[in-house]
Amino acid sequence: MRMITRTPASLHTIPHTSHESRASEAFSSAAEAPSAPNDWRAQLRDVIRSPQALLERLGLEREWLPGARDGHELFSIRVPEAYASRIRHDDPDDPLLRQVLPLDAETDVLDGYVTDPLEEAEHTPLPGLIHKYTNRVLLMASGGCAINCRYCFRRHFPYEDHQPSRAQWQDILDYLRADERIHEVILSGGDPLVSPDKRLAWLVESLGEIPHLKRLRIHTRLPVVIPDRVNDELLGWLGATRLQKVLVIHTNHANELDDAVAAAMTRLKSAGVTLLNQGVILRGVNDSVEVQTALAERLFECGVLPYYLHAFDPVQGAAHFAVSDEEACNLMEALLEHLPGFLMPRLVREVPGRRSKTPLSKPPLSKPTLSKPTVSKTHPGVDAATTDPSASSPAGDEREPSSLNLTGIIASA
Ligand code: SF4
Repeated sequence: MRMITRTPASLHTIPHTSHESRASEAFSSAAEAPSAPNDWRAQLRDVIRSPQALLERLGLEREWLPGARDGHELFSIRVPEAYASRIRHDDPDDPLLRQVLPLDAETDVLDGYVTDPLEEAEHTPLPGLIHKYTNRVLLMASGGCAINCRYCFRRHFPYEDHQPSRAQWQDILDYLRADERIHEVILSGGDPLVSPDKRLAWLVESLGEIPHLKRLRIHTRLPVVIPDRVNDELLGWLGATRLQKVLVIHTNHANELDDAVAAAMTRLKSAGVTLLNQGVILRGVNDSVEVQTALAERLFECGVLPYYLHAFDPVQGAAHFAVSDEEACNLMEALLEHLPGFLMPRLVREVPGRRSKTPLSKPPLSKPTLSKPTVSKTHPGVDAATTDPSASSPAGDEREPSSLNLTGIIASA
């Protein structure tokens, strides 16, 4: 059985270009040696890596060990201490624990659950580059993560086949230069921020020199799981690029957002970064209105706007997290009553072959609607437009269409 370890190791083979000397320095292994106790690299190195260590750290019974070992064989445990410290002691139902603790259910092989649910292998014109949407591309800037999330849709992704060589990185930059339709580059992985700052600085600087690129987007969970990752070096290269910067964190529960994460978000904002969150709807973690409401509220306190709530992708080994689309849509409908519109995440699914995300929603209620603008004469010689029935009411924008007497309006036309 193949164990997927995803040891962070990335961008080791960035190409030599006109930035030859800077690239060489950026990829020198001696360039960044861990020093201070709160250094993120030391925290990344010292993560919890075994079922036994995780159970002992959290005071859990040994009865969990056999299942944890089975799941760990398929996709290895990886939990930073900064994240473990937010998990309740001796509580197997803790929503953060459920995201990182392997279970024997991961060995189930079920119909419909596959290793590549998004069929990403179909959209990789070059190793390390995924080009699914016309004007944006995704670079696999890392094959490792700080944390291994049990539900990850890329838990089977063959990262070893997507570690570009020096020449291949040059090919990726050439590909971006040649296609002027591309306006946005998304750094993903794995987690792109496991890469050293000098390497990322080199890459982002190279991207900034491509004139038609407008935006840099970074998909990362590192500022959540190791907030010390948002250090001065990172803020330096982020602040230096001319590209507009969007950083999309990945959070599924408000308990993940402690004061250290909030402080990291404040630092990112100071560098001019737009902050968004994407999460996944997960059974036993966040499949309730209360939890989603608390998450959205806490995100906003931290300066982050909810962006996407991903419908569950049927990845093999994670079926125990599945929430049906119907349940997810019902939850979103109920959530509308608890959150202002600007805090509502969009429930979406990535459908293989489609050139955008697919929003999920319940079918509209079958109620009478106005098919075209109508005019009603309420007084002799005076036309009263009734194209929008709610417009005649001071509180019109708060009225439900179902409360309108549509039959009467149409009859008077
Ligand atoms: S969900 Fe994100 S952070 Fe978690 S294992 Fe997958 S890529 Fe890594």
